[in-house]
Amino acid sequence: METKTNQFKAEIAEMLDLVVNSLYSKKEIFLRELISNASDAIDRAKFLALTDKTLISDNPEWKIEIAVDKAAGTLMISDNGTGMDAADLEQNLGTIASSGTKAFRKALKEKGGENLPELIGQFGVGFYAAFMVADRVRVVSKKRGSDAAFQWESDMTGGYTLADSVRDGYGTSVMLHLRADQSEYLDRWRISELVKKYSDFISCPITFRQIDVPADEKEEDKKRREEQEAKPLNTMVALWKRSKKDVKEGEYAEFYKHLTHDWEDPFEAIPFSGEGQVEFKALLFIPKKATMELYMPQQKRGLSLYVRNVFIGDDIEMLLPGYLRFVRGVVDSSDLPLNVSREMLQDDAIIAKIKSAVTSKILSTLETLKKDSDRYNEFWNSFGTVLKEGVHTDYANADRIKKLLKWPTARGDAGKSIFLEDYVKDMANGQADIYYHLAEREDDARKAPQLEAARKHGCDVLLFCDPVDEYLTESLREFDGKKFVDVARGDVSFGTDAERDAEKKANEKAAEELKGFLESVKKELGESVSDVRVSTRLADSPCCLVAKENALPPSMVRMMRAMKNDVPEEKRILEVNAQHPLVKKIAALEGAEFADSVALLYDAALIAEGSPVADGARFTKLLAQLMMK
Ligand code: ADP
Repeated sequence: METKTNQFKAEIAEMLDLVVNSLYSKKEIFLRELISNASDAIDRAKFLALTDKTLISDNPEWKIEIAVDKAAGTLMISDNGTGMDAADLEQNLGTIASSGTKAFRKALKEKGGENLPELIGQFGVGFYAAFMVADRVRVVSKKRGSDAAFQWESDMTGGYTLADSVRDGYGTSVMLHLRADQSEYLDRWRISELVKKYSDFISCPITFRQIDVPADEKEEDKKRREEQEAKPLNTMVALWKRSKKDVKEGEYAEFYKHLTHDWEDPFEAIPFSGEGQVEFKALLFIPKKATMELYMPQQKRGLSLYVRNVFIGDDIEMLLPGYLRFVRGVVDSSDLPLNVSREMLQDDAIIAKIKSAVTSKILSTLETLKKDSDRYNEFWNSFGTVLKEGVHTDYANADRIKKLLKWPTARGDAGKSIFLEDYVKDMANGQADIYYHLAEREDDARKAPQLEAARKHGCDVLLFCDPVDEYLTESLREFDGKKFVDVARGDVSFGTDAERDAEKKANEKAAEELKGFLESVKKELGESVSDVRVSTRLADSPCCLVAKENALPPSMVRMMRAMKNDVPEEKRILEVNAQHPLVKKIAALEGAEFADSVALLYDAALIAEGSPVADGARFTKLLAQLMMK
């Protein structure tokens, strides 16, 4: 091929600019990133070779070599993994994985350069960390299964070149021309220290070689050097196979960072092994923060599955249910055959057993975590929304999951949420059900008139303000033998049996007395409501809107509409507070005055719950009229 010069895509140019000008103190992590890439490439090659032996016809001894040339000021990381052809080089090193591109640019704009290291990690662009220490990088690669080698080179001034190249053997070499002030990375001890710190558990040997050996090197020096260079810098013990007591401080964290490309320590490391029906070792992690990936349907990476130290895959659905997709880590089992295909694994009985054990272990970890409320809240704030999905999707574990969920309540302070056990413990005398109220904002929910009677009777109300809560109402059903009841739907009544009876009688009487009024209001509001009736849920407000007992939930209506079904508006019921002086006053009005007051009453009900009024102009006009009086 002819040498081809390309411009970087805009987001890469932007990022490189930040990388180069980064004052980031831990520039050393570039080495971890490049070693991780090399090790991933070897893992991928091993995996591909399971089904295509011709890819390893060279009989490779898997290895990563770090070679320095002090005189030339270069550092080279070479592997004999998959390698890349020209198209791969262009795709992998010339663009950021397209799914992440937009999100990356957005985060870059919002967070700015200070958080660059975190951003680089989050968006899987670790390769570019090389430019923190180098002003020129050349990648030479020969892809397994092909004969041609290619090279990619960039000095970061906007573009890169692609050209034919030569390489002995398959794999990739990344050559860094170090900046003048970064010569520490030419030192064997420094490199060795970094490999031990970040990459000790990499499963193939990482060796060091000095390229610029002095021509007059003494025989004994040569011998010593060659002995040193033959020894790997890393111990290569798979961390998940070591027992917890043999793992040194920080090792889990480093392994986690290698595995996930996260730049932060994990929130929790969970080493465990399965015994009995299926034998396996697992090392799971809960990250500190949710990444945007978590909410992208195309998120692919879950737990990495190894069979006897060989990486098989990290498909999300395989070993983890969707609602635990925030968990990362490794599962290693010797009970699976090595020559498995991913398709086979999907319905493998052993996999199913591992998945169930992993799920149970994570839930029990969360159950323990729950005892430390500050730590649990930290977890909850990052992943609570995702965990909730489990009630809906994991029927077998739904009861365990419910105990891990939290909500704010009408009585509680803003931002504070409680577990269902605590709700149940605090239930009022005679309260049989668990009450909840759906709203978009916690603030509005707390002030909603639909909550008044519950409050008056000493019943707390869970505030369902997370978008997933509405879907949950379908599957929560009951907790501790108590039903979940929407305070803004159907008939609800509060208090002891005697209180309910008395209230019912009083209501029937009021309804009888207000019969004419209720009918006139209904006529006045026409198509806006399905009915007008006396309320059992109001204390201080004159009126509120409630859903019919069997009404479709708004989420369902939205979904059906999106699927192009013609779903009529679910009309609600206007409930009035028979004891309220305003209601009595309006009941005494006639003609236009009555009509205007009813219209305002209805708008007031909408505003009180945080909904927009149907006709803003008319509302403003009526309000102005009222104020003039
Ligand atoms: P990430 O590794 O997080 O995907 P990088 O920017 O570090 O992001 O690398 C981009 C891609 O380039 C990798 O996903 C991989 O496909 C490819 N790549 C990088 N280094 C190597 C290597 N040594 N051998 C083979 N492919 C590599």
